[in-house]
Amino acid sequence: MTNMKVGVLALQGSVREHIKILIKLDIEPIKVKLPEDLTDVDALIIPGGESTAIGLLMKKYKLDKAIKEKHKHGMPIYGSCAGAIVLAKDIIDSKQPKLNLADISIKRNDYGRQIHSFETKLSIKDIGNFNGVFIRAPTIKSFYNGVQILSEHKNSPVMIRQHNLLITTFHPELTNDTRIHEYFLNMAQEYKQVRDMQRDIEENNGL
Ligand code: GLN
Repeated sequence: MTNMKVGVLALQGSVREHIKILIKLDIEPIKVKLPEDLTDVDALIIPGGESTAIGLLMKKYKLDKAIKEKHKHGMPIYGSCAGAIVLAKDIIDSKQPKLNLADISIKRNDYGRQIHSFETKLSIKDIGNFNGVFIRAPTIKSFYNGVQILSEHKNSPVMIRQHNLLITTFHPELTNDTRIHEYFLNMAQEYKQVRDMQRDIEENNGL
């Protein structure tokens, strides 16, 4: 896993917290602030924070196009909370800039004022029990095209996977638990192997 180059979109939000977890897992993270920072990145994390700010800054620095281009060529992406919002194809009642990649419809700040922020024990497929930290979290209202639910809370998905996209509406980066990041790294590693194999085949075609 150590040969993986993992980028963290470093425009706003819980950047440091994701980086801390990656370092704990012996991964040297790359802070992505400009499109050229993506060059060597094998997998990208979009942190929690304020999705409008992240979306606007992404657009300003032309990172939206660069991320979509890398994703088209197979780069896996993990978005936590605001990162989940930015990845969605539909953000209910909002025209904020987004990446339009995950087949979900998401509603911002949807848990109401009383439970603005809360922690709850989640059960996650292939991972087990996990302390879910939710902060002004969105809810996933609908999903389609092979979105796989990995965890639910009160009948709505809080962790999903669609091909090489991973989404949590909560913040594992605010805990000391590295298992969701490990899950993403394993997922990214599988995709990297397939990409490397495809490249080898393409390069050897002329032989
Ligand atoms: N409420 C934030 C938004 O809509 C997300 C909050 C978070 O990332 N903790 O962007």
